[in-house]
Amino acid sequence: MRLHPVEFELRQNSDVFKGWDSTASPRWTSVGVGRTNSLIKLVLPANIDYSNYTLRVLSEDSANISIANHEITGPETMFSIAGIQATDKDGVSVVLCDNRNPNPFNHGAILDLHVHVLPERTVHVGIYYVSADKPNADHPEEVIAASALTAVCPTKDEIVQALNDAFNAQSNITFVLDDWAVLDDCYGSFQPNGDLLWSPYPGTTEAWRGVFSRAWDRNQDIKMHRFFVAKNCGYLRQREDESGYDQEFGAAGFTPTGERMSFVKSFLEGNDVLVYAHEMGHALNIPVLRKTSDGHDGPPWPDEFSSDGIPFSDQRGLMKGGFSGNGGYLTRWIRHQDWREANETAKTKYER
Ligand SMILES: [Zn+2]
Repeated sequence: MRLHPVEFELRQNSDVFKGWDSTASPRWTSVGVGRTNSLIKLVLPANIDYSNYTLRVLSEDSANISIANHEITGPETMFSIAGIQATDKDGVSVVLCDNRNPNPFNHGAILDLHVHVLPERTVHVGIYYVSADKPNADHPEEVIAASALTAVCPTKDEIVQALNDAFNAQSNITFVLDDWAVLDDCYGSFQPNGDLLWSPYPGTTEAWRGVFSRAWDRNQDIKMHRFFVAKNCGYLRQREDESGYDQEFGAAGFTPTGERMSFVKSFLEGNDVLVYAHEMGHALNIPVLRKTSDGHDGPPWPDEFSSDGIPFSDQRGLMKGGFSGNGGYLTRWIRHQDWREANETAKTKYER
């Protein structure tokens, strides 16, 4: 017997950022150890005998998750999933079984929902506002854009909130502000595809010198991620050729490979605080599945986004590239493989 419709669905499309991947079959959700996920419903056809169906966790998965409110009495079943013990990369399943067809190989399952149960991770964050209005002594041809001088940077709390909004529910990572400072009197630029050109301006404060030198020391063992908010002085540009620099900003942010730091330019627009979460994604080694040649994520994206007012169907993930210059938009959504990869990297790279 085939049932139409029968599917696990989000109760609210806006929860697509809390651990939901409908681009895979079967669909996936995420829950933290000791946490509860109440995002998803089971949808069945109207006017069938619901007593023929059971929603349950297979016995071999019962050490990892439990479900509640799963009695099927109508076309929509609003159940919740509690995370008990972390899963491996294959996750575990909530299954819909047809009681009339007990199949010894799949327990009579006719539909399943895969679940990652992820342990809680903490990532400490340092936020440094790099601010100056002086020309770069090494590159006097560079002109500081007026928009940079009047830019309103996100506050440190807004940045930490953006990180938590992106990774807390999907990857069970909590970001905690560990250190922050406003570091005036510095200047620099960097080359996203090559060497860091950023260097303290002559007269730079000792505080800036100290923070920067610690951040850039590849052997340093301080388990935190430092964001340098390039206010007024951040020329986040790519070298065009030997004679000069591309005056169009090639990147909104930059995370050197393998480092625990990112640079983000200050004069962003609209929803651009997500750039901090995007850069954090690079530091957490995502994406892993559909990685494009420039290290970003490729489609497909979950069709649930269609009600979110995001105009471009192919620009709907946190790790979508091409943010700047082509009308791209970021959202907080990441794939189920990346929920897990980010969680694992948070342990290996940032756990204290
Ligand atoms: Zn990127």
